[in-house]
Amino acid sequence: MTGKGSALAFHGFRTTLARMSIPHSEIPSRAPSALAVDDIVLPFEVSSLDLRGRVVRLGPVVDEILEKHAYPQPVAKLLGEAVVLTVMLGSALKIEGRFILQTQTDGPVRMLVVDFTAPGKVRACARFDKQRVADAIEQGHADAGALLGQGHLAMTVDQGPDMNRYQGLVALDGGTLEDAAHEYFLRSEQIPTKVRLAVAEELRQADGGARHRWRAGGILLQFLPKAPERARVADLHPGDAPEGVESHALPEDEAWVEGQALVSTVEDLELIDPALSSERLLYRLFHEPGVRVFQAGDVHAECSCSRDAVEAMLKSFSQDDRDHMVEDGRISVTCEFCSANYQFAPKDVGANEQ
Ligand SMILES: [Zn+2]
Repeated sequence: MTGKGSALAFHGFRTTLARMSIPHSEIPSRAPSALAVDDIVLPFEVSSLDLRGRVVRLGPVVDEILEKHAYPQPVAKLLGEAVVLTVMLGSALKIEGRFILQTQTDGPVRMLVVDFTAPGKVRACARFDKQRVADAIEQGHADAGALLGQGHLAMTVDQGPDMNRYQGLVALDGGTLEDAAHEYFLRSEQIPTKVRLAVAEELRQADGGARHRWRAGGILLQFLPKAPERARVADLHPGDAPEGVESHALPEDEAWVEGQALVSTVEDLELIDPALSSERLLYRLFHEPGVRVFQAGDVHAECSCSRDAVEAMLKSFSQDDRDHMVEDGRISVTCEFCSANYQFAPKDVGANEQ
């Protein structure tokens, strides 16, 4: 929400984001569907390699979110990546869960917020410095790392009033959101994880001429062997070996080496190609070890703001803050996620006219 005295505030408590559950309702073995479906999350499993993951394909959803904001192109692309990552992680939650991804950094893009409500509702917005973004574009330094700069990425899970909240934090240090996701899973969850994110504009014929449409996609791969020692992380220090004894190098598990190698062959174009179905993409990657897919989940762009919620927020502000929000005899609040505007008479929210 914008408006004097308001802020996006997220509070941290604790549950866990680990061991993502896959919604089980298995599809019997068959040829991979050639039908490309947008705005879905498709969970999959490569059981011979102990791999699990999800493919995210976003068409109209990401276009609606980014088009409405009309941010500068590199900011829109970066927010699109954050949307894919959020959908990828948030879709692991159970019913009624909420997953919020938020960056706070010192770069031209100060903040990204993506809010996912299970089973498939997503909204997103960015805060940035117009001049610094324009300068970055002009200087050709508008990649994700340069736009974000230094700071942190927070991921908050809220599974309803009966469950604790959990917040995971990871440093952003001039890298991409993919880098931050890898760092998070390595340090906080100790699950070997590989993430790929892609966002692009395609030129498509439409009524009234061609226009650009945003598309986005991604794949998450995790190594979840039954024997936990197989998931050891190769680059952690092996420990306190006695002096003179060569420490055991811990090679990564072969299954995980193979999984990473396969997923690293994915081209950005394959993740967003409107003609390539998610199932065919998975088959292309994993036909040798064998892959099975589960029920896909739908994703849609929807904001959860409402007049009642904004009114309640205003009433929670101090008298002084409320009084200062009155302009031209009205209080006006615009939702930062969807641009909906809510107007109140001062007396409706207990504010005094100046
Ligand atoms: Zn809204």
